[in-house]
Amino acid sequence: MRRYVISEAEIPKRWLNILPLLPEPLEPPLDPETKKPVSPEKLLTIFPEPLVEQEVTDKEWVDIPEEILDVYSLWRPTPLHRAKNLEEFLKTPAKIFYKNESVSPPGSHKPNTAVAQAYYNKISGVKRLTTETGAGQWGSALAFATRFFGIECRVYMVRVSYRQKPYRRVLMETWGAQVIPSPSPNTEAGRKFYEKDPEHPGSLGIAISEAIEEATTREDTKYSLGSVLNHVLLHQTIIGLEAKRQMEMAGYYPDVVIGAVGGGSNFAGLSLPFIADKLKGEKPDLEVIAVEPTACPTLTRGEYRYDFGDTVGLTPLIKMYTLGHDFVPPPIHAGGLRYHGDAPIVCKLYDLGYISAVAYNQKEVFEAALVFARTEGIVPAPESAHAVKKAIDVALECKETGEEKVILFNLSGHGYFDLSAYERFLKGELEDT
Ligand SMILES: *Cc1c(COP(=O)(O)O)cnc(C)c1O
Repeated sequence: MRRYVISEAEIPKRWLNILPLLPEPLEPPLDPETKKPVSPEKLLTIFPEPLVEQEVTDKEWVDIPEEILDVYSLWRPTPLHRAKNLEEFLKTPAKIFYKNESVSPPGSHKPNTAVAQAYYNKISGVKRLTTETGAGQWGSALAFATRFFGIECRVYMVRVSYRQKPYRRVLMETWGAQVIPSPSPNTEAGRKFYEKDPEHPGSLGIAISEAIEEATTREDTKYSLGSVLNHVLLHQTIIGLEAKRQMEMAGYYPDVVIGAVGGGSNFAGLSLPFIADKLKGEKPDLEVIAVEPTACPTLTRGEYRYDFGDTVGLTPLIKMYTLGHDFVPPPIHAGGLRYHGDAPIVCKLYDLGYISAVAYNQKEVFEAALVFARTEGIVPAPESAHAVKKAIDVALECKETGEEKVILFNLSGHGYFDLSAYERFLKGELEDT
């Protein structure tokens, strides 16, 4: 079989919370002024109560409300594919599986948390959500999700992407969101940059600062983050929980689980339900690999310490691998992987040696993307292509050693809004940074 499909009735009804299974607790986020753990009251100015609770809950399973399952069923369960054509092309004895998160209407895994966050804001009486977006994937996921719960959505979009990537903006506007190029004159954080240069290209960090400022200064508005936080990773575990059932249908348990890491949410979403088995001692040999760009090598080159989540310094201090909150990665086409930090859960697992990490250059990633598109048919998002590249490398190692490893990776999204990057690659114009 090439495609393992489970029915709508089999969508998992609970998310898996990894926090109680971690061998040691996460260091708490700190208030930058007092250097003491952030009070829940402070978080409640930004996030609604149910999400603040999920951030720290020690329950291993969290029920998924009916209203969320109902929206999930528009595209979930997502298929698990066996990449048979790719295996044949590589002439590898390895078995390659991928979970296809590209089938959601916004085209990535991101609506798994966007829908949940929109729901919990709705039941908490929130009328408006603000957020930031780089290339537009997260903004479009939230624009999509807020539709179903009657919440207004305002997206601060990094100006350079606003100009260069109009189609994701149009997608967000099609779903009814308001999209503002950042830095903007709307907020104090934005004005500082905007007044010096109204054409300032912007950065994800500045856009985050603008969105948070608006949420803290308006009573009816909260902020929504698409990765990094514990509750985001919790919602994404639906990916791995489905994949586990589908791998059972296929009759295999993976030897290697692979995902691309920007903030860590699609990687964790696929891998945490498998890592849980490893933490419980049931699968000691399971290999879990995070893949990042050499242009933004957070795990492979960063330091494990407290740092701000944004550029300006509005967020709490978070213990994570970081390249420094003022690190500005070179422009690469995998915009979703250009974050200076990583999810604290992913960082803890990396620090304790439960997962490993590897970094790849842009060109070799696009070469892998092309192989995948030409064998499996789906054009991967440049972010997802990092996972494709590692899966291919492991499969080629197996060809050398004769091992029949079972490889599972996350195809976190499709690349149909990234065709200008593909065009540059095909013309030979794409550079390593
Ligand atoms: C945003 C995005 C990523 C990176 O974000 P994570 O939180 O690390 O998952 C990866 N792939 C796609 C397709 C994305 O849209």
